[in-house]
Amino acid sequence: MATIDGLPPLREVIATHDLVARRQLGQNFLLDLNLTAKIARLAGDLAGSDVLEVGPGPGGLTRGLLAEGARRVLVVEKDARCIPALQDIAAIYPGRLEIVQGDALQVDASAHLTAPIKVVSNLPYNVGTELLIRWLSPPVWPPFWTTLTLMFQREVAERIVAKPRSDHYGRLALLVAWRADARIVMQLPPEAFTPAPKVHSAVVHLTALPSPRFPAEAAVLSRVTAMAFNQRRKMLRSSLKGLGGDIDALLGSVGIAPTARAEEIGLEAFCALARAVAARTP
Ligand code: SAM
Repeated sequence: MATIDGLPPLREVIATHDLVARRQLGQNFLLDLNLTAKIARLAGDLAGSDVLEVGPGPGGLTRGLLAEGARRVLVVEKDARCIPALQDIAAIYPGRLEIVQGDALQVDASAHLTAPIKVVSNLPYNVGTELLIRWLSPPVWPPFWTTLTLMFQREVAERIVAKPRSDHYGRLALLVAWRADARIVMQLPPEAFTPAPKVHSAVVHLTALPSPRFPAEAAVLSRVTAMAFNQRRKMLRSSLKGLGGDIDALLGSVGIAPTARAEEIGLEAFCALARAVAARTP
């Protein structure tokens, strides 16, 4: 069957390179090249952008990104077995695909790429959230990326876009909303993957804001929200005791009822609280 790029279909690639999926590497592959091209398009216009893809596996999404016109793609793949399949792709896109074999948590991918940079990945479930938190918490803002288009388990995607008072609302949603616009742009059933995972998946598209939505020090906001959500369903007057001093007065100074619970408080109020905490720290 003809493919978008003349390379063999992904089932054949997997058979040729004996890429039996390994659960410990979170390997659930997308084998439909129409679907991977569609995911690549969700990232917006790729022409004129470099793209970072973490965990290319046999290269289905990589092929979508290149066929959709990405200027250059850097892939970081931990599993050495996938590298020959990726080299076959690099051969038909000269100078446009760089392959790094290694752990995405250890590789400084931004050093290999030129702005503007988009990140597009079907992330391994075991490191997906950790990578997202790192991409949202660089030492300086704005970050190296302009957009992140990322596949997660649906439950994680819901935590990323959650609003106050909803079941999935927590620190992750706050961190995301502080520095980015985020929305779920595609839902996928387990059967879209080989092997099929137990859970549904979703693609989240995030656009970096030029500066955080409300002023606050990242470290203080992180500390305050960690304390607040560590004891979910407890009143803030109790969960924030560790901050010391008169907690009722502190909360009152930023218009938060001391009896409120973390899951009822929006981003703007948490940022105001973080500023008040920073202001009183000697
Ligand atoms: N992008 C491919 C697709 O959509 O078919 C594969 C996605 S699969 C969900 C996740 C990929 O991430 C696997 O190829 C796995 O080997 C790779 N991987 C797992 N842990 C990794 C890590 N720490 N760093 C880089 N790649 C990793």
